Amino acid sequence: MALMTPKFIFDVHLDLAWNAVEFNRDQRWTQERIRRRELGMTDNQGRTRNTVCFPEMRRGNVGLCVATQLARYVPYFGRLPGFASPEQAWAETQGQLAWYREMERCGEMVSIRDRAQLDAHLQLWLAEGGPRAEPPPIGYILSLEGADSIVTLNHLERSYADGLRAVGPVHYGPGIYGHGTDDEGPMTARGHELLKAMERLGIILDVTHLCDESFWDALSRFNGPIWASHSNCRALANWNRQFNDEQIKELIRRGAVIGMAFDAIMMVHGWTHLRSKPQDFNLKIEKICEHIDHICQLAGNVRHVGIGTDLDGGYGTEQTPLDLDSIADLAKISDLLAARGYRSADIDGIFHGNFVEFLRRTWR
Ligand SMILES: [Zn+2]
Repeated sequence: MALMTPKFIFDVHLDLAWNAVEFNRDQRWTQERIRRRELGMTDNQGRTRNTVCFPEMRRGNVGLCVATQLARYVPYFGRLPGFASPEQAWAETQGQLAWYREMERCGEMVSIRDRAQLDAHLQLWLAEGGPRAEPPPIGYILSLEGADSIVTLNHLERSYADGLRAVGPVHYGPGIYGHGTDDEGPMTARGHELLKAMERLGIILDVTHLCDESFWDALSRFNGPIWASHSNCRALANWNRQFNDEQIKELIRRGAVIGMAFDAIMMVHGWTHLRSKPQDFNLKIEKICEHIDHICQLAGNVRHVGIGTDLDGGYGTEQTPLDLDSIADLAKISDLLAARGYRSADIDGIFHGNFVEFLRRTWR
């Protein structure tokens, strides 16, 4: 069967600005040029192994993404890196925002904040006809991964005015607002206030990274829109970073869509961080279809799953499936799902439609 290139992909989790500002990657460069510049660098495991940049996103028709601001507050000396104060974390996220603004000025990206902008953007990318004179900009919806940088609720309101539309209250470990991956405990009192303010503003709650206790606490208090931007199935990759079936069923009941991540550590049982290799598991993109299937079986339909790759989220091809060298390789999912009996409308839903419909409902 010939490889079907998806018409359009909406990737609901990319740390584009973090890569630009923290890892000094100019996302306008080709993948090969970024890799060449990093030869000999040893500050991060993913150096020379990036999978994301604007040219590759365009090649793969990834025309829309949820793009993060990301900065953690870590007040003590510990295993996790982070800033010594929330004010510094805020400054870091503002630097990341400044990069998105520069990319808008250059015509590379466009900020999407409401339904009219979303629909216009989709029309631009899905327009039939001959080759365009200018490649359209890549749309991005601003999100915040870990809310430690929200110093006061006034900072949340300012961020909303800057286009922030989704917030994950926590990241790894303990946070100001709750407890994240590999930690335990409910949302904090300030976390409860944050949820109320998010609900009032119509900001989407991103439940990814909430530890189990904070997850259930947050869901019991929050009545606004909920999604999981980059979360796989614990039944297929046994670590608290992924959701168990009970959590997935509750997300489905609440109308959430769950973005499938391509971080190997989240795809298989028994991956050891910094030690395991994709070869050890013969890990291929096909594995994500098992996660997709699992969610669709729990839902009884194909409407609650989408793509939230987390590619270049602090790792590179040393921690992705063997047949994924670039974000453009997401196209391979088409044939894999078709072979499992998914109809082409279902596949379009997974590539973009399910999350697009979620936003249309949310931004009505
Ligand atoms: Zn993450």
